[in-house]
Amino acid sequence: MRGSILIFPYMKYKRILLKLSGEALMGSKNSNIDPAVLEQYSEEIKAVKEQGVEVAIVIGGGNIFRGGQAEALGIDRVQGDYMGMLATVINAMALQSALERHGMYTRLMAGIKMEQVCEPFIRRRAIRHLEKGRIVIFGAGIGNPYFTTDSTASLRAIEIQAGVVLKGTRVDGVYDKDPEKFPDAVRYNQLTFQEAYQKKLNIMDMTAFTLCQENKLPIIVFDMNKKGNLLKIAKGEEAGTLIS
Ligand code: UDP
Repeated sequence: MRGSILIFPYMKYKRILLKLSGEALMGSKNSNIDPAVLEQYSEEIKAVKEQGVEVAIVIGGGNIFRGGQAEALGIDRVQGDYMGMLATVINAMALQSALERHGMYTRLMAGIKMEQVCEPFIRRRAIRHLEKGRIVIFGAGIGNPYFTTDSTASLRAIEIQAGVVLKGTRVDGVYDKDPEKFPDAVRYNQLTFQEAYQKKLNIMDMTAFTLCQENKLPIIVFDMNKKGNLLKIAKGEEAGTLIS
């Protein structure tokens, strides 16, 4: 039945917020968006959705434009941030299309009004979409400059009362140093917010991190490229680093 929600008892989370970076969409291709990544993400998300989990997604725009790049190009910073927000909408539309091709029902809600392509973000409506079994993608960040899509993920997760923020990356968790540079880097299975802060671990920007900490919203950093990982996490199995 369309939109029906049947939650399987072995799922740990009823509602999740998945944060995907824009850069990850580039995959191995030399273009902004690699269709193979969209394909793989859709399959991962579908596997979770089929278990009745309500899924909200925030996607970044770093593969297209980041506000931080603006000044070097002679572009005003605020203008650059809006360009970055628009970049997230491009990614969100690509992801929406891929999810729909895989048979999922979706809604794209944006922090900036763009009524020809998406709905404006209205919290109660977003929750209603989720309850009806639709995947909600939040585009255009929170709609304000000087923020990031990590902050958007934390804020939206709190607003829609998600049980967890799942930060999908290309590494399998949080390490004491960059595992791509240091082969002896050690991975943490679990951390408190306090430990992560004291160890200066770069999990999310401070605004995003503090929002989660103050609202007791756990974060799991995990490898989004590993098949079946998202489902494992939704079930509560260990795959990545839990910060709580
Ligand atoms: N951005 C913004 N406000 C927001 C969200 C994003 O100004 O609420 C801009 C900011 O310039 C950022 C860009 O959008 O650099 C793209 O987002 P982000 O860098 O978070 O993407 P990611 O690194 O996840 O790909």
